[in-house]
Amino acid sequence: MQFFRKSMLELIIQTSTNLPPDVRQAMGVALKIESPTTQAGQALAIIGKNIDMAHEVEGAICQDTGFPTFEIKTPVGVNQIVMKKEILSAIAEATKQGKLRPNSVDSITGKNSGNNLGPGTPAFYFEQWEEDRIEVRLLLKGGGCENKNIQYSVPCTLDHLGRADRDLQGVKKCILHSVWQAQGQGCGPGALGVCIGSDRASGYHIAKLQLFRSLDDVNPDPKLAKLEQEIMQDANKLGVGTMGFGGKATLIGCKIAAANRLPASFFVSVAYDCWAFRRLGVLIDTKTGAIAKWLYRDPNRPVERLVAEGKGFKLTGREVRLQAPLSEATVRALKVGDVVLVNGPMVTARDAAHSYLLHHESPCDLRGAILYHCGPVMMREGDQWRVAAAGPTTSIREEPYEADIIKRFGIRAVMGKGGMGKKTLGALKEFGAVYLHAIGGAAQFYARCLSATGVDLLEELGVPEAMWHFNAKDFVAIVTMDSHRNSLHEDVSAATGVELEKVGAGKS
Ligand code: SF4
Repeated sequence: MQFFRKSMLELIIQTSTNLPPDVRQAMGVALKIESPTTQAGQALAIIGKNIDMAHEVEGAICQDTGFPTFEIKTPVGVNQIVMKKEILSAIAEATKQGKLRPNSVDSITGKNSGNNLGPGTPAFYFEQWEEDRIEVRLLLKGGGCENKNIQYSVPCTLDHLGRADRDLQGVKKCILHSVWQAQGQGCGPGALGVCIGSDRASGYHIAKLQLFRSLDDVNPDPKLAKLEQEIMQDANKLGVGTMGFGGKATLIGCKIAAANRLPASFFVSVAYDCWAFRRLGVLIDTKTGAIAKWLYRDPNRPVERLVAEGKGFKLTGREVRLQAPLSEATVRALKVGDVVLVNGPMVTARDAAHSYLLHHESPCDLRGAILYHCGPVMMREGDQWRVAAAGPTTSIREEPYEADIIKRFGIRAVMGKGGMGKKTLGALKEFGAVYLHAIGGAAQFYARCLSATGVDLLEELGVPEAMWHFNAKDFVAIVTMDSHRNSLHEDVSAATGVELEKVGAGKS
């Protein structure tokens, strides 16, 4: 198995940088059905371009390169201990090469291991089979969509849908509810893996396993095949749309399994994956460790571009140019729906930096600043840092902190994805600030607009959580919460809630 480590490194790099054909095809359909003039259409055009760019430069599709889950089948007699060691080494190497972001954090100390290795990371599931080759499948699932996974214990009562009973109708209600509750926070259009039954822990695992199914397959169980089809139709009537901006493309796949359960329990477990649906697999020659075959794709068929050269996202000339630092008058003039082009300095801050700022003085002047919710992939080149991937992270995690941070430091714009809650909306009005929505996962697209000018708290917080200073050039974002108490997220949530009610009652 002399080539096994090399094969695993190739699998990891390809999974992180090149979306599989079934996902590309589904995203191509989404691009076709959404009008290019809507916010969702513009977001999709940026996503399509980002997918193409990631493949061209072999860069991470999204800066959150996700939690690696390996599903491995081996013939009897293969040494799984050695395989595991080689995979760990390949993960560390892929991290060193910037194909994976350092993503493994000690849950007690908060320290990032720096190489994506640590207790429980990555996840391995080995199984033996009768074939003579080794099968390795890899899923890289990011935190934004992982946080939107949800588990229902039926019977239960659901917003807009009422009671969900212990039958297929009740299961359907739960799955539709899972799509609605994700809104834009999981970077839709999304894909679902679902498990009906089992226990709590195995239910989630079986749900995640469904994400290894190809998006275009048909469930061998006719009842589940019908349910999958119905969910696809109904979920795409809700109007959540790309990034929760409203629109027709809400779901690109739904794969459902059923497992036996205890008489007393009935769980419906949903694994929500984002449009950056990164999973691939290989068959390995047991003697050499070389890749014998790729799963999900034909390596002899060239990767087709999602957006034709010269097409896709275009500036209209109606965009508002913002030059940071921002004044109160500038942000008070902005309204929900404005497309802005950000220029000048911005500073990143995620969970750890928000917590730090709440208890310490800021290491830099934040008056008039744009605070970017982003944990970038950064590469050290000599004494410089290069921005390798830098899309937004989910903002709602900072809801408990943001209003205080805006007030204390005089922040004028918070930028991230998925929107924020009532407390932040109130602070935007009271202190004169705005929420800018960048396109989730568009890590390569945005990396081209940013150059690094410095960093604070790198030692203390690690690469993704440090406060990076960027200089932005024409960074595209959309105002989704303004200083007049308007929130696109509240509007879409309410409107899609009404649609959910109709779909649940069979009136849509
Ligand atoms: S596309 Fe969005 S949800 Fe998916 S990994 Fe990237 S940031 Fe997370």
